[in-house]
Amino acid sequence: MAINPAHIPLPTGAAKRFHYWENPTPAEIGATSAEFLQLLPGPTHIYIAGKNPRRARAIVTLSHGNEPSGLQAIFEVLKRQIAPLVDIHCFIPSVDAAKQAPGFIYRTLPHHRDFNRCFKPPFDSDEQGLLALELLQSLQAIAPECLIDIHNTSGSSPPFGVTSFMDDRHNALVTLFTHRTIVTDLQLGSLMEISESFLPTVTIECGGALDTESANVAFEGLQRYITLDNVLSGGYSDLLLEFFHNPMRMELQEGSDIAFGDHCLFEGGVTLLPDVENHNFGTVDASCQLGFVSGELAAVLSAKDAQGNERIGDYFEVRDGALFPACLLKLFMVTNNPEIARKDCLFYFVADDLPTS
Ligand SMILES: [Zn+2]
Repeated sequence: MAINPAHIPLPTGAAKRFHYWENPTPAEIGATSAEFLQLLPGPTHIYIAGKNPRRARAIVTLSHGNEPSGLQAIFEVLKRQIAPLVDIHCFIPSVDAAKQAPGFIYRTLPHHRDFNRCFKPPFDSDEQGLLALELLQSLQAIAPECLIDIHNTSGSSPPFGVTSFMDDRHNALVTLFTHRTIVTDLQLGSLMEISESFLPTVTIECGGALDTESANVAFEGLQRYITLDNVLSGGYSDLLLEFFHNPMRMELQEGSDIAFGDHCLFEGGVTLLPDVENHNFGTVDASCQLGFVSGELAAVLSAKDAQGNERIGDYFEVRDGALFPACLLKLFMVTNNPEIARKDCLFYFVADDLPTS
């Protein structure tokens, strides 16, 4: 279901959850992005005045506290005093999670919902929902031309964009950063799902949180996003564009568990090989072992198509306790973090015979 924030009433007496910071100067933001983070008092809305104040674009980043590249890019833009062409509004929600020592480790605070699953009703069930609602209503008031939501993957990965819509505007936004796009109509309550009813919105995954190249991808893309006159019609990548349609999610079945290791670590669960993240955006075939499964495949793992039908047996098989693809697959967003695998998914995949352009 598409969400139109205009139809969502703000709870009466709601506190302003985002702190507002207007035109931070280089002297005010600390010497490093880690110091910059410590200077943010909580969820923060940073406004940077542009040359043309009649136009605005928006950025959300640090929805997940363990994904630093977007914040690092904003820090660089402020430090280098890169002048935006239009007004820029940066929303930085999960500051408190990111600040937990040693910094940029926690996706969310303990017992909090994943912020990027909170963009669907009901909004008033907890703090995270109310913060998501306030963000939507701020965007509605600002009426930006477009919105980018900057993330990192937890495992090592090349950069890619994610969009719910295949059109020139969404493509143009992604190509500011990367030539790879995942097109999905999965409805998880993520921010980019507001796009249809509201404004062009894409998710940018800049690469792994620990990959050294990710901060550059975020900064160079963000620099284009804030300085180009038109970001909604151009193709800004010189590379041939690649599209991956409607990936499926590989999830744990209720009651089964996951670990990472080079031998089967327990009964009734899956053990993925430690280097499985190296398959991000690579093709795997039926000879490529991904890990181990003890017990029945369908009792341990689940992969449902868009209609909700279980398809695990069509795409994966277990031979002598080892987990293999059953056909050519492309994997992405492979995590190496068991907590994210339990709460979200192990990875996304598409059959590699799907059209890719
Ligand atoms: Zn994220």
